[in-house]
Amino acid sequence: MIKIGITGGIGSGKSTISDMLRKKGFSIIDADIVAREVLKIYPEILQKVKEQFGKEFFNEKGELKRKEFGNYIFAVEERRKKYENIIMPFIIEYIFINLDKFKEEGKQVCFVDAATLIENNLHKHMDVNILVWVDSKTQIERVKNRDHLTEEQVIDRISSQMPLEDKKKVCDFIIDNSKTLEYTEKELYRALREIGKKYRGVECLKL
Ligand code: ATP
Repeated sequence: MIKIGITGGIGSGKSTISDMLRKKGFSIIDADIVAREVLKIYPEILQKVKEQFGKEFFNEKGELKRKEFGNYIFAVEERRKKYENIIMPFIIEYIFINLDKFKEEGKQVCFVDAATLIENNLHKHMDVNILVWVDSKTQIERVKNRDHLTEEQVIDRISSQMPLEDKKKVCDFIIDNSKTLEYTEKELYRALREIGKKYRGVECLKL
């Protein structure tokens, strides 16, 4: 099974590309969904959160007060990192479990959509890595509109991430998502066909 990583920055268009792939019937592991699933699967995550952040983020039933906790950790970089250190090993483990599952099911290709694919070294486990790139002016505009944030807030979020120009250096394909969706879709198929040339027996890449 060919493992293809899809990465980018905030609002660069990873979900947009993943949706296009889903429509074509491809299997996708979405790291954002995995990040929610692991909380249910591994109770030790919330146990560690309780130990390191305090009981006040849990209700009487012992459930995490998601919104309150989210606001608390995303307000300060250090807190977010502390939470990521707790949860990330479980996210990575569960991504690999899902990859194994798809392989056992006989899938020829599986995509992993993860904003921090490179930061967490997951790109090294992929056969091919695709960067969803967007110019910074378009990126700021799209995130401002999508998340109803000010320009300053968007710039803060973008600067807290690894620059797209650095991600470019370690990816095999760059999809320019600064233009229309039709253009992006063409770019995506072009990349898939190129990958298909390398893995000749893979029928689903013959688009
Ligand atoms: P995040 O990691 O922040 O969740 P993302 O990389 O998954 O973001 P998307 O949610 O796919 O990015 O795209 C960001 C916003 O830009 C969305 O509102 C989406 O509809 C819009 N968008 C994406 N690509 C295009 C495009 N080519 N033309 C116009 N709008 C686009």
